[in-house]
Amino acid sequence: MSIIIKVAVPVPIRNIFDYLPPQDNEDRTWIPGIRVMVPFGVQIKVGIVLDTARTSKLQSSKLKRILTVLDDQPLISSDDLQLLSWASQYYHHPIGEVISSAFPTMLRKGLPAQMEQEQSWFLTEQGLSVNRDLAKRAPRQAALIEYLNIHKQGPTVAQLDGLGWNWRNTARTLSAKNLIEQRPVKLQPNPKIKYTPATFQTNEHQNHAIKIIKASSASFGVFVLDGVTGSGKTEVYFQLIRSVIDRNMQAMVLLPEISLTPQLENRFQTRFDTAIAVFHSGLNDKLRARAWMRAQSGTAPILLGTRSAVFIPLKRPGLIILDEEHDSSFKQQEKFRFSARDVAIKRAQQLNIPIVLGSATPSFETLINAEQGRYEYLNLPSRATGAQPPNIHLLDIKKKQLSQGLSAMLIRAIKETLAKREQVLIFLNRRGFAPCMICNSCGWVAQCLRCDSNLVIHIHDQHLRCHHCDFQGPIPNACILCHSKNIQALGIGTERIEEILAKIFPTASIQRVDRDSTRKKGSLDKTINAIKQGDVDILIGTQMLAKGHHFPDVTLVGVLDTDSGLFSTDFRATERLAQLIVQVSGRAGRARKPGRVILQTRHPNHPLLRVLIEKGYQQFASDAITERRCAGLPPFSYQALFRAQSNNQQNTAAFLDQIRSRAAQIEHHEITLLGPAPAPMLKRAGSYRYQLLLQSPKRKYLHDTVDQLIPFINDLPGQNKIKWSIDIDPIDLF
Ligand code: ADP
Ligand code: ZN
Ligand code: ZN
Repeated sequence: MSIIIKVAVPVPIRNIFDYLPPQDNEDRTWIPGIRVMVPFGVQIKVGIVLDTARTSKLQSSKLKRILTVLDDQPLISSDDLQLLSWASQYYHHPIGEVISSAFPTMLRKGLPAQMEQEQSWFLTEQGLSVNRDLAKRAPRQAALIEYLNIHKQGPTVAQLDGLGWNWRNTARTLSAKNLIEQRPVKLQPNPKIKYTPATFQTNEHQNHAIKIIKASSASFGVFVLDGVTGSGKTEVYFQLIRSVIDRNMQAMVLLPEISLTPQLENRFQTRFDTAIAVFHSGLNDKLRARAWMRAQSGTAPILLGTRSAVFIPLKRPGLIILDEEHDSSFKQQEKFRFSARDVAIKRAQQLNIPIVLGSATPSFETLINAEQGRYEYLNLPSRATGAQPPNIHLLDIKKKQLSQGLSAMLIRAIKETLAKREQVLIFLNRRGFAPCMICNSCGWVAQCLRCDSNLVIHIHDQHLRCHHCDFQGPIPNACILCHSKNIQALGIGTERIEEILAKIFPTASIQRVDRDSTRKKGSLDKTINAIKQGDVDILIGTQMLAKGHHFPDVTLVGVLDTDSGLFSTDFRATERLAQLIVQVSGRAGRARKPGRVILQTRHPNHPLLRVLIEKGYQQFASDAITERRCAGLPPFSYQALFRAQSNNQQNTAAFLDQIRSRAAQIEHHEITLLGPAPAPMLKRAGSYRYQLLLQSPKRKYLHDTVDQLIPFINDLPGQNKIKWSIDIDPIDLF
């Protein structure tokens, strides 16, 4: 009787599959975590060995053989496999897909897990003793030499790109002079680091936080680091990471998608001269595989990554830091819908190491966990540099004449700020020129044919675009229906504000930062460098600018559409609005100069805005949490959302109706069923979308019910014509 090998195969089926060993390799030991190639239907897939067994439910004549074994040693530890299997159960997502999400694409495809020789630049003997005079004649050459002198272990390309100028040309020149050369980087299993301490002393609050977290360094604990922007959270991270590396362990630092630019990498690299593995979606497959291998092999003491990095294996894990823990980009919104924050906490618990959740605006979930004693709460109450908190002003624009979205008072404030040669940030979370094109003769509105949404006018590339599907078309010069030329762009977007401000302040240098203006790789970084160097007077940005960046010369922040989050049907909208206001305000006056924030609103007496402005985020959160508690909404209950979509509206609704009926039959306790209801945007990219919400005060009841529903759904006739998914702890009911 042959041994049976249980393999996780990346397919959307909630099963582990049984295989026989390859013919020529019957007797090898099957360690969980090695990759194998297996036949699957007519395809060949790369799976992960999970276990072995003596027997299979299938007849052995039905079993197929493993084709090839790809690894000698497992790429992933049994701890990590356990975490993935937990995630698969918790999120009710197929195990094979969950496990494969822990690997970079190249390893998923079955390529060998080898540490390839990575090239970098180093000073030659001659370069090490180069004459200091160079700085006068060729400042960039001098700068690159200096940089390589500091980063003796060979900087990464991303680090060099972070210099903010074309270092490649300079490198060519220097290499021709034989001052620098390209060599493979030596990777060490336990790399040494050179740590550069801060130029200042940490304050008592920072010291307290560092002390408390260090005291728990050998065991699990969740620490909430609640600190206003600029309070020195990053400095706390640095010192914690340092102590982790000193103990020869690795630190994993998770960040929201957007702030992961070479800027931040550089900040880390300046303090830790060692290999830092960087993993995010902006990198190509090769770089991601390299970062993964460096973390997994332990050759990088620090892993810096976005949400998908939470599953990367670490050789000697010692600490997890999750910065901006409230940020919604930690939740994956498609396919495997996990929360990197919640997975990270689970992972820290399994590894028995501490995890730090940092934020200036902690999520309600986190605050309640702290209040109930599950997490330890640490506070950094003031700005570390001694800068004053910004002065926030609610500007009533109810009966005011607006000049295309800008009030006279805001324009005046901009003028004053520019006169002082300080920078202005205008925040508007709507890209494009105008969100709507309308005909004044017949009332026609330009709409996407495939979505329930208006087309957005983009002036720069002269297109009407749908922000929900890929549609784009030319901007018409007459109404499509009545051919009247009396058509108009309604509302304001960032492009329009850019145009208006350019008219009002013709000599000011204006820079727009949104998804459109930063599409080109590296352009966001260039812009941010320009802002820091003072080459920009007025910055116009979407939420891309709200997070993480330091702009010491910005002293005025204007928020144009404060009200958009006030009256949403999504119960989380106010939490998000408050977080956004605090984050945007955090951009003002971070250095010596005091900052001010002007929020344009039509509801200056809205209780929520008043509490936030007058008493601060903590009081706001406490009030809003009380409201949630009364309403029994998360985090005081748990939710699971079934989403369904297809090109047939009736079938889609009927599909969820069947699930609802079945759910109602299941003997469950305290489960509320809401829906099926049309999604807030019913039609999107040609599909009709419905949702069914399950809510319960007990997590277990919810999961039991979902567990019973899934096999039922899989057997539903016609289910393959409907695209459906389940979202556990949804944060967006869209
Ligand atoms: P946060 O991450 O909370 O936004 P940072 O750690 O980035 O804050 O700190 C903001 C600024 O204050 C940085 O320029 C940092 O170097 C500086 N800083 C941090 N701690 C101190 C301190 N104790 N004294 C003086 N400056 C500090
Ligand atoms: Zn018309
Ligand atoms: Zn569309």
